[in-house]
Amino acid sequence: MSLNIHYKEDFKNRHIATNAADTAAMLTTIGVDSVDQLIEETIPQQIRLKQPLNLPKAKSEADYLATLKQTASLNKVFKSYIGQGYYDTITPGVILRNVLENPGWYTQYTPYQAEIAQGRLQALLNFQTMVIDLTGMEIANASLLDEGTAAAEAMFMQYSLSKNKGAKKFFVSELLFAQTIDILNTRANPFGIELVIGNHQEIELNEEFFGAIIQYPAGNGEVFDYTSFAQAAHEKNVKVTVVADLLSLTLLTPPGEWGADVVVGTTQRFGVSIGFGGPHAAYFATKDAYKRSIPGRIIGVTIDSDNNYALRMALQTREQHIRRDKATSNICTAQALLAIMAGFYAVYHGPKGLKLIAERIHGLSVTLATSLEKIGYKVLTQSYFDTIQVELGDLKDAIHGVCIDNEINLNYKGTVVTIALDETTAVEDIRLLNRIFSKVKGIAADEAELQEENINTVIPAGLQRTSEYLTHPVFNSHHSEHEMLRYIKSLEAKDLSLTHSMIALGSCTMKLNATSEMIPITWPEFSKIHPFAPVDQVGGYYAVFNELDKWLSEITGFAAMSFQPNAGAQGEYAGLMVIRAYHQDRGDHHRNVALIPSSAHGTNPASAAMAGMKIVVVKSLENGNIDVEDLKAKAEQHKDDLSCLMVTYPSTHGVFEESIIEICETIHANGGQVYMDGANMNAQVGLTSPANIGADVCHLNLHKTFCIPHGGGGPGMGPIGVAKHLVKYLPGHAVVDINREKSIPAVSSAPWGSASILIISHAYIAMMGTDGLTNATKYAILNANYMKARLEQHYPVLYSGSKGRCAHEMILDCRSFKNFGIEVVDIAKRLMDYGFHAPTVSFPVAGTLMVEPTESEPKHELDRFCDALIAIKGEISDIESGTSDKTDNALKNAPHTAANVTGDEWSHQYSRQSAAFPLPYVAANKFWPSVGRVNDSYGDRSLVCACPPMESYMEDPVGI
Ligand SMILES: *Cc1c(COP(=O)(O)O)cnc(C)c1O
Repeated sequence: MSLNIHYKEDFKNRHIATNAADTAAMLTTIGVDSVDQLIEETIPQQIRLKQPLNLPKAKSEADYLATLKQTASLNKVFKSYIGQGYYDTITPGVILRNVLENPGWYTQYTPYQAEIAQGRLQALLNFQTMVIDLTGMEIANASLLDEGTAAAEAMFMQYSLSKNKGAKKFFVSELLFAQTIDILNTRANPFGIELVIGNHQEIELNEEFFGAIIQYPAGNGEVFDYTSFAQAAHEKNVKVTVVADLLSLTLLTPPGEWGADVVVGTTQRFGVSIGFGGPHAAYFATKDAYKRSIPGRIIGVTIDSDNNYALRMALQTREQHIRRDKATSNICTAQALLAIMAGFYAVYHGPKGLKLIAERIHGLSVTLATSLEKIGYKVLTQSYFDTIQVELGDLKDAIHGVCIDNEINLNYKGTVVTIALDETTAVEDIRLLNRIFSKVKGIAADEAELQEENINTVIPAGLQRTSEYLTHPVFNSHHSEHEMLRYIKSLEAKDLSLTHSMIALGSCTMKLNATSEMIPITWPEFSKIHPFAPVDQVGGYYAVFNELDKWLSEITGFAAMSFQPNAGAQGEYAGLMVIRAYHQDRGDHHRNVALIPSSAHGTNPASAAMAGMKIVVVKSLENGNIDVEDLKAKAEQHKDDLSCLMVTYPSTHGVFEESIIEICETIHANGGQVYMDGANMNAQVGLTSPANIGADVCHLNLHKTFCIPHGGGGPGMGPIGVAKHLVKYLPGHAVVDINREKSIPAVSSAPWGSASILIISHAYIAMMGTDGLTNATKYAILNANYMKARLEQHYPVLYSGSKGRCAHEMILDCRSFKNFGIEVVDIAKRLMDYGFHAPTVSFPVAGTLMVEPTESEPKHELDRFCDALIAIKGEISDIESGTSDKTDNALKNAPHTAANVTGDEWSHQYSRQSAAFPLPYVAANKFWPSVGRVNDSYGDRSLVCACPPMESYMEDPVGI
């Protein structure tokens, strides 16, 4: 027996689930001889890559983690007092392990299918309640991408709602964090909004202003009383947005009590690691009157079909997937998982615990300031929460040097240093800082004793919070670890995730999120790094970015990437702003028309609107393809002001359109640029590429194609790749030098977006290598065509390529079932009884389901899913033939809860067995929807976006 001592486990066999025997069977079902023949018949020859990708040899999981550990050691974990919106924090172990590191939470999808998502909906409702209570506002959403973009959304909301006719001015306090001002600048520009940056105590607001933004506590740490500012603003119809530190609001009078119209900020310091800039959740709170103008997702209370308490996403008619270019924002993927963590942090600590944490931080800040003053330093901040500024004069360099020797980062600007404390700061840390500052001044250690008793707040009496917060039982019940653990688990158990079954969501690519890819994100060398840490401390991150940039550039065929956009929609916005900068740089200021096919994802028109573009819709043909004649006509009609085309490839219909090269050429010939929406990259990697088809820019949804988990609605990353002529315009940053010649200003708060999760995609590519990635694409296409072969005998499949193949996804037409009363949602809800999450409903075609299996699902699972859909088709046929009742049937009444089928009464015309266990496999692994079908309109009619009082749903479920 010969022994192979070089054997290494091959990760691609873990990621791609289909084995050789199954492949053969699947090919037979499809009716092709080989995978390569299928690919030939699917992807037009003229757009195929001529060469395999040039990527490093694939690493095993163990080897990858060992190598990455070395890279990680190039990051220096210093004690950070840099602040500026990023604070060290302690993630409670029970939340770290059972939420962040738990696939039961992180592999969930956005809670569109509410009946199997009540756990995360509740966790997000807790988040909203926490935000509403702490800010003193009336309504909050369930997270935005970061503080800076939340501020920009607030500015834009005020602009849209302004009563000051024609007002274009927006007052911006100069004491906002620099990155926030940068993003406001980016957003203001296309609309001709003028940012008036200045001192809030000096500015005279008038009717030329539509809004104003101030920060609380301000960027220099000072806590101002803005009451009269807000009053003066309101007298002139000027709305006031406040960027507020949520933790400080446990001690400070909340903005809602002194006149804020909108309050935004980050929730990062509620137990979510800094991670070199993200991901973390931003919040957005406002008055009830503005509820229909709020950006992003809102969770609301409603009832289910049994009149029980239930939750779902509310007021969706504001959102891009419905309103398109008229939407309140382009937000799709947000930061759900991180919002959930922040909400749990508040649940675990409760109001008392949060206050103790805040008081300690504040007390330590006072202690530090007092001691520094005692040894002769000038402290510039008078009333503060956690951040002080100290004048160092000519001692600056010496202080800086000793701090670096002690592995401490402070924030230096000129001769002033800013020191921000956080939850992890302890008395010993303050003693050390005090010793350093005394030593540099030449003061003996024994004279520099800290005063550690009788510490009093420096917050003026009028700004000390007196109102209660977090009084709801949920924030006052789960303070022991056992209770918290059980609470987290009880919510998790209500939610279907990839830990249960495949989630075949077209366009969303719910593939494997491998554990080895996830492990490094919580290593302190990655999680504890501040985004503004000195460059020489972050070599590990830079090494990961450089490699990932190189690899993704190779995969897309582009010259360079920007990692700043932290979701796909943000990538679209960033890419369009880059195109805009390119045209302007060439003197083409008037080029502002974006051609967008009617079948585009809602974020496309919404992002184009944000970039100030005029949207011209291009028609689709009967067969789903872009109407090339219409495109040509419109491109020519607008040739003088054409900015770009936004196109998804393969199309949102799941087809590789053969005319794509001609389409791109037409746009270029008329002076436009081609923006490719890269959501469908999972059908391209290794076989074709955006550059190859002729695109100039594209975003990649790393949370689709490149394995970042969906987290129940975020985080994601939407980096953009660009052709050579656009590289110099890629986004810059106000604090960190990104070194591009003609950068547009920032599109995200952090220079590399949600940097820490880039490691997941880095791991995926490193462990798959060229063969693995290319095979992933092939098997994604194989799996889709196998399902198509099985399902098209039961459901008409809309659109396929010229040889009858689909790409990596397919659309099942359910519209004809309407004739006997069955809607596509009935099928979606019925799938829950079979243990499955529905495919994408009614996108891109109303009344259809779009199915995308991905390469990570084995044949066995594809078959289970097909069996479920085929069985449902049988149930529909029974309705059609009259065997089942038209209104009282298993589809209309789906989903069925355990309470439904075990109740003493059962009045339906079908059996309990067929309701809950419709196929044999279901019984072996039953997943019970926790509520019956949710009532959307009930909840929108009487909107409740915070945890209702406990008794209201215990005693009188209907009367919420
Ligand atoms: C998912 C998706 C987007 C939006 O990406 P987010 O990361 O959710 O912002 C855009 N276009 C298409 C086709 C998509 O599938």
